Amino acid sequence: MAEEAKYDAIVVGAGPSGIAAALTMAQAGLTVAVLERGEEPGTKNVYGGILFANVLAELVPGFLEEAPLERHIVTRRFSLLSEEAEMAFEFRCERYNQAPFNYAFTVSRARFDRWFASKAEEAGAELFTGVVVDDFVWSDGKVVGIKARGERPGEYDELYADVVICAEGANSLLARKAGLWKNPQPEHRATAVKEVIALPREVLEDRFHLQGDEGVAIEYFGAATKGMVGSGFLYTNGQTLSIGVGVSIAELHRRRPIPNPNELLEGLKSHPAVRPLIRGGETVEYMSHMIPEAGFRHLPQLVTDGLILVGDAAGLVNTSLFHEGTNLAMASGRAAGEAVIEAKEKGDFSRQALSSYLGRLRSSFVFRDLRRYQNAVRYLMDHPQLLREYPGVFADLLARYFEVSGRPKEEVRSELMAEIRRRIGLLKLLRAAWGLQRHVI
Ligand SMILES: Cc1cc2nc3c(=O)[nH]c(=O)nc-3n(C[C@H](O)[C@H](O)[C@H](O)COP(=O)(O)OP(=O)(O)OC[C@H]3O[C@@H](n4cnc5c(N)ncnc54)[C@H](O)[C@@H]3O)c2cc1C
Repeated sequence: MAEEAKYDAIVVGAGPSGIAAALTMAQAGLTVAVLERGEEPGTKNVYGGILFANVLAELVPGFLEEAPLERHIVTRRFSLLSEEAEMAFEFRCERYNQAPFNYAFTVSRARFDRWFASKAEEAGAELFTGVVVDDFVWSDGKVVGIKARGERPGEYDELYADVVICAEGANSLLARKAGLWKNPQPEHRATAVKEVIALPREVLEDRFHLQGDEGVAIEYFGAATKGMVGSGFLYTNGQTLSIGVGVSIAELHRRRPIPNPNELLEGLKSHPAVRPLIRGGETVEYMSHMIPEAGFRHLPQLVTDGLILVGDAAGLVNTSLFHEGTNLAMASGRAAGEAVIEAKEKGDFSRQALSSYLGRLRSSFVFRDLRRYQNAVRYLMDHPQLLREYPGVFADLLARYFEVSGRPKEEVRSELMAEIRRRIGLLKLLRAAWGLQRHVI
């Protein structure tokens, strides 16, 4: 990396948000440096597995033919687990089997991020890998560049730009150093662990009823997290599956002894509904990562003089039932890139000029979805019975409803209705359903 060089923009982090920003700016002819700490884009990245590609389709119109996609998701399954049972809603749609495949694909981030970064490079952005950015260079209260870790401790290379876009991901130390994320709280973060398990392609396809490149995405609730706010997931890739658990850090810390996320994942893997799905597979990767789930009201300040936060570094993840992060990351990266292009035309990189970024987010699905689901995590935390008690109660009632007992069905039915009234309360149940549809689904 050249010392003392000056770019129109520096992007820190070559994840989906950073590359979307770099691509947008490079396509408009701006000089852009992308700094990535990994040896290659994607080597440090963790996600569950579904790349939501609606924004990607606009950024790279030929992505369907070019991108290293593994499977398109035709089946979505939402599964409520008790200790011994599974209650599931499954949706399969033939429409999702045709291009553009509902813009939902499993991808390997190591392969996808490298490919996506190559698109920004083709547009003219310069990518420097193996570079860790530790701080900003400030002048008169404005960010005017970055300090990258040098070869020896305490040594730094400085690189200058009109604007820095911080696309550092969930645990953005730079955003904190700039004073934009103030005191992130445990309830504003989830921690997730994930394994990639290899299975022969034919086994995977038989087991999950898949043909060709079809894929399935399963989300597990209830016993998957021992009733804590969070969920488990299982997604099919080409010849592997991804299985993981994400839980609110605040929830973990409330339990005694504090549960170990690895044990939660082992618990999910050994659940009777999950064990047969991963049987015979070999774990080939294990990883953990944070997920920002602050919600709309607790987002950091996203812009200051010479600096914009995007993607996870800005807390832009939809933590409702939809678990979308990749498309919000790309949408915010593109919005930041457009704001910089406009700022460059005016020659003004002040906080006020860069704030057109916020206007773009406000009119897009990013802020509208974040606002719509801003109470999702809080609602679930305030109603712990939904994920902790109710799955067991419902599983028990359903087991008895379907029990072959020789008793008249009418008698069983009224007995169970009476039991719902006693164990949950009809009004409470209706209120829970109303709350879920209002805040979470
Ligand atoms: C377990 C898990 C499951 C998830 N499942 C899904 C899912 O199924 N679908 C979905 O849409 N989203 C999912 N997400 C969220 C999704 O991963 C993120 O929203 C998305 O990756 C954010 O992109 P980003 O570019 O902002 O950050 P990241 O993808 O985290 O990229 C940040 C980049 O910055 C680099 N970097 C960090 N610090 C520095 C530094 N100081 N100097 C240089 N480089 C640096 C990193 O190496 C990395 O390449 C999941 C997240 C987790 C943890």
